Amino acid sequence: MSVVDRQEWDVVVVGAGGAGLRAAIEARERGCRTAVVCKSLFGKAHTVMAEGGIAAAMGNANEHDSWQVHFRDTLRGGKFLNQWRMAELHAREAPDRVWELETWGALFDRTEDGRISQRNFGGHEYPRLAHVGDRTGLELIRTLQQKVVALQQEDFRETGDHEARLKVFQECTVTRVLKDGDRVGGVFGYERESGRFFVLEAPAVVIATGGIGKSFKVTSNSWEYTGDGHALALLAGAPLLNMEFVQFHPTGMVWPPSVKGILVTESVRGDGGVLRNSEGERFMFRYVPDVFKEKYAETEEEADRWYDDPDRNRRPPELLPRDEVARAINAEVKAGRGSPHGGVFLDVSTRMPAEVIKRRLPSMYHQFKELADVDITAEAMEVGPTCHYVMGGIAVDSDSAAARGVPGLYAAGEVAGGMHGSNRLGGNSLSDLLVFGRRAGRHAAEYAAALAAARPRVDDVQVDAAAAEALRPFSAEAEAGADGGAEVAVAHGPGGRPPENPYTLHQELQQTMNDLVGIIRREGEMRQALEKLAERRVRARRAGVEGHRQFNPGWHLALDLRNMLLVSECVARAALERTESRGGHTREDCPSMDRAWRRINLLCTLTDPTGGLAAADPVSGRIHLARETTEPVRPDLLALFDKEELVKYLAEEELYE
Ligand code: FAD
Repeated sequence: MSVVDRQEWDVVVVGAGGAGLRAAIEARERGCRTAVVCKSLFGKAHTVMAEGGIAAAMGNANEHDSWQVHFRDTLRGGKFLNQWRMAELHAREAPDRVWELETWGALFDRTEDGRISQRNFGGHEYPRLAHVGDRTGLELIRTLQQKVVALQQEDFRETGDHEARLKVFQECTVTRVLKDGDRVGGVFGYERESGRFFVLEAPAVVIATGGIGKSFKVTSNSWEYTGDGHALALLAGAPLLNMEFVQFHPTGMVWPPSVKGILVTESVRGDGGVLRNSEGERFMFRYVPDVFKEKYAETEEEADRWYDDPDRNRRPPELLPRDEVARAINAEVKAGRGSPHGGVFLDVSTRMPAEVIKRRLPSMYHQFKELADVDITAEAMEVGPTCHYVMGGIAVDSDSAAARGVPGLYAAGEVAGGMHGSNRLGGNSLSDLLVFGRRAGRHAAEYAAALAAARPRVDDVQVDAAAAEALRPFSAEAEAGADGGAEVAVAHGPGGRPPENPYTLHQELQQTMNDLVGIIRREGEMRQALEKLAERRVRARRAGVEGHRQFNPGWHLALDLRNMLLVSECVARAALERTESRGGHTREDCPSMDRAWRRINLLCTLTDPTGGLAAADPVSGRIHLARETTEPVRPDLLALFDKEELVKYLAEEELYE
């Protein structure tokens, strides 16, 4: 078996996006030796792509805003399925996290009187998104990186070693969380460049790996989003919560092909952009659901007045929560009123002068001009739904971000479930990852410190099993594999059959999820999807690659397939089980939201937590689904809503309670 480099740390953070870095900073500041592992280059995480802003009720643009209003908006957006305690902590703490970023050097856009500027976004009652043009994520990551470097310089002054207490392992992929009995003992991974394996032993592991978008064909997500953290948690024995809720952002580019799926930020609509169908109609007025009727304008005149006078007018329906807008676009296209390439038109060019567009939306302007020769100051864009975000995720304790059932495991950011209920509001992810990244780092550090005298141990058997699993795509054992760079034979799957091509399997998986478990779902199609997933899971065991372990993207994809297949099965099973439509889960055969379902969470676990792939049952799969009653919302939080509104969401018995 390969020689594996082993190191000891107090806390290991998997992921260097916003959540991972915020967690790592916190753990290090609390005195823990902290290692951060990330799949891509340091600074290239998904968070960098975030455009619109960070939602936080600072009240800079409208003094009526408060954490209570933010909490209310978040629950409305999530259709009351949010873990209410997470939504409460998030709304209360988000402003402090933004101000903290400012003290660490973030340069936000300003109001005329010098405060942090806040912009409108769908589902937020007041302008609430702190932003830096449309490059907010870049500034957030830059600031957190700068903070990491500052801490490393501090360590250098004290110890002579920059990486003594905070080290980033970039371009490294974690494939397993290792255990000592029930509790966490560390992680196993490989360096992408050399293919060498490593083990980082630690009593506490924070998973902050982001989302799952690469399981779908059309997505705004980057190559890193293969659901690794979700799968790592499942394999370690932790449950995933409400995986049926996948957000399809309403405005991904549908044309030209060079930018297909790429996001058009909601700020385009927040700043005045409107949606029109092929007949030129501003169709969103026809799609305001009953639960939102009182809050949205009924005429174009009122909607347009709102931009200048939000206190005396209602918001434009283009700013409904994302699930509503995505469904409306889908319906228009289906009714034959779509754009030539199967979307609708998003027009900002006739709504603002070109120089204002370039100033407020610089990345949008440059990106589409450069990549697709579309000039958004002069023409409308063709847009349609694109897979964007997963609300489902690792089931965590609301206060501590501890994953359920696995002592020492924590999760924060997009990979954690519960905060956003059935649908996330724009801007609420960046604030989520700051609030819960910090909480995860703090609790992981406290847990690790308490175990200082009795650190868990990782046995060689586990390490060898993880290495064997990672090497399977090469099938033949590395002939001189000890240094990780040896040439290996082409795989011939078990039974001598030819190997499967991981790229083909990936494409087939994406097509299945897009067509059968996509934005509009039907029972028969989801059953079909589960059959296809089962068949692909069997074939994925024969995914084979040629060549070396040195930078070999085919091998990396073959390993990622395990994660995408597991996570896709969770999405499909949970979506089949939930016989209602709510937020990011729309069923054509069960089109209404059912108040009885508000009380139900769906939990996915792995039937064989050791994750032995040999145990896979190709017919019924390995994901076990269980229903769990949601915790009643605390009365003082319920009191923030009108009774008439609660009647729309809560089950009969909850109202009596
Ligand atoms: P990420 O930032 O994606 O970081 C994940 C990290 O995990 C990466 O470092 C990755 O390399 C690492 N990783 C993954 N798997 C492994 C593994 N196996 N081993 C080691 N490392 C691993 N949200 C908002 O609130 N406001 C916005 O304006 C906004 N705009 C967006 C625009 C776009 C185009 C997109 C795609 C998303 C946007 N979002 C926005 C959503 C938001 O950006 C993400 O939800 C958020 O950044 C996720 O952060 P994270 O820290 O959880 O994960």
